[in-house]
Amino acid sequence: MRALQTAGTVPEDLLPVQEIFGPVPQGEGPYTGRCACFIRLGRCNLHCPPCDSKRTWDTSCYDLAQTCPPRSVEEIVEVAGEHGAGSGITVVSGGEPLLWQRTAAWHQMLTALPGDVHIETNGTISPDEFTTERVAHFSVSPKIGRMGAADPAKRRIRPVVLDDFAELARRGKAAFKFVAADTGEVEEAAHLVRDSQIPHDRVWIMPLGDDAATWTAVGRGIVGRVMGYGFNFSGRLHLTLGVR
Ligand code: SF4
Repeated sequence: MRALQTAGTVPEDLLPVQEIFGPVPQGEGPYTGRCACFIRLGRCNLHCPPCDSKRTWDTSCYDLAQTCPPRSVEEIVEVAGEHGAGSGITVVSGGEPLLWQRTAAWHQMLTALPGDVHIETNGTISPDEFTTERVAHFSVSPKIGRMGAADPAKRRIRPVVLDDFAELARRGKAAFKFVAADTGEVEEAAHLVRDSQIPHDRVWIMPLGDDAATWTAVGRGIVGRVMGYGFNFSGRLHLTLGVR
């Protein structure tokens, strides 16, 4: 399993960190606009072609030892504090951050970070009991359509895991975020939502696009279908504002 392979390259008491930044407004999903510090961990178990975080995993372009150097929990928490952790929400993202949940460093980091901690995950790994208890919110983003084009369905869509997150969504502790490039991809998301019995009001559809013009054009093409399902429409506030 890839999680064990990648974890094995980093000492148990360290975590690979690509970047820590903030305070910035959370740009996407139900917490849009909330003051946030981001901690982006290295490694991913998927290979989405439009990924905007390839420095966390793409060894064909990057030396991960350079882009995601292992750092101690003390250093991570200290730097996060300098970037707003504790003032607003702290978002642990990636990559796929749940690859690290079996490590001692993960437990130490979640214990030491102040305030509400959010996790952004691709929905292929269920959170363990400790992580579920400690984390205030999971943003779950299963990969469909163009996002999922490079990985087989059985790798990126794991029904048992989606069922776990759907249960957390019903408890108000998780929200699903699907990136869609056209109405066909909104339909693909809707099928998954139906199969996993995810409450429609816990689903955000976000247009694919890494610049404001593309995002707006795609958004105009899909917004009607998104509303037709009773889903929510996610902005990308950082694109609108021109900040990270
Ligand atoms: S799951 Fe997220 S971090 Fe991983 S390749 Fe896909 S978009 Fe990138």
